[in-house]
Amino acid sequence: MIDTPIKIALSKGRIFAETLPLLAHAGIVPVDDPETSRKLVLDTNNEHIKLVIIRASDVPTYVQYGAADLGIAGKDVLMEHGGNDLYEPLDLKIAQCRLMVAGPVNCENDLSYTRTGKRLKIATKYIDSTRRYFAEKGIQVEIIKLYGSMELAPLVGLADLIVDVVDTGNTLKANGLAPLEHITDISSRLVVNKASMKMKHEAVNQLINNLDEAVNNPENRA
Ligand code: AMP
Repeated sequence: MIDTPIKIALSKGRIFAETLPLLAHAGIVPVDDPETSRKLVLDTNNEHIKLVIIRASDVPTYVQYGAADLGIAGKDVLMEHGGNDLYEPLDLKIAQCRLMVAGPVNCENDLSYTRTGKRLKIATKYIDSTRRYFAEKGIQVEIIKLYGSMELAPLVGLADLIVDVVDTGNTLKANGLAPLEHITDISSRLVVNKASMKMKHEAVNQLINNLDEAVNNPENRA
C-alpha cells in the first residue's frame, strides 16, 4: 500500500488537454478542471494520485526536488533545465512541435548568417539550446533573453532572428517571419524523480507501464 499519494506535475492548456486521454487510459480521471478551478493540487478518482498544476517551465524543478514524483514537460523545457536528477522514461508523443530558427521573410539571402561578418542577435527564451546550436555551427551570436512573444523581436529591431517552438507556422507567418532552420523535434516527456523511482517503485512503475500502453494505443492519438 502507498502511504503518501503519487503527485504528477503538469501545466494547464495544451499539455493538460493532451495528457487527459492518456491518464484516462491509465484509469486516472481528475475530479476538477484546472481551466475553471483555482486549485493547484487536483484530486483524481484515485485517492493515491494527485495532479499538481504549475507553470510548464517549473515542472522539471518540482520533480527534481521531489515536490512531485512525476512530471509531464516538453522536451524544449527539459533541454533548458538540463535534466539533472530526472529519469525520462517515456516520450508521450503529445504537444508535438519543432524548435526552429526563424527570421523575417526573405532574410535568408541578405542575412546568410553562416557568411555574414556581423554578430547576429537572436531573441529567445531557449538560451541554452540556442547557445549550443550556434556554438556547434561555429557561429558567434548575441542571445537576447525574452519570456514570450519572440515573434515581435525582429519586427521592432530588437533581434535579427528568433529561436522558438513552431507548430503550424501560422504565428510566424502572421508576423512576416519564416522558419529558417530546424533545431530539433519536440514532444512532451514523462519525467520521474530518482528517489520516487526507488521508494515508490511499484506504483511509479505501474503508472509508467500504463501510460506507455496508452501512448501506443492508436485511440489516444489526437
Ligand atoms: P503555430 O502558430 O501553430 O506555429 O504555434 C506557434 C505558437 O504556439 C508559438 O508562439 C509557440 O510558442 C506556441 N507553441 C506551439 N506549439 C507548442 C508546443 N507544443 N508547446 C508549447 N508552445 C507551443
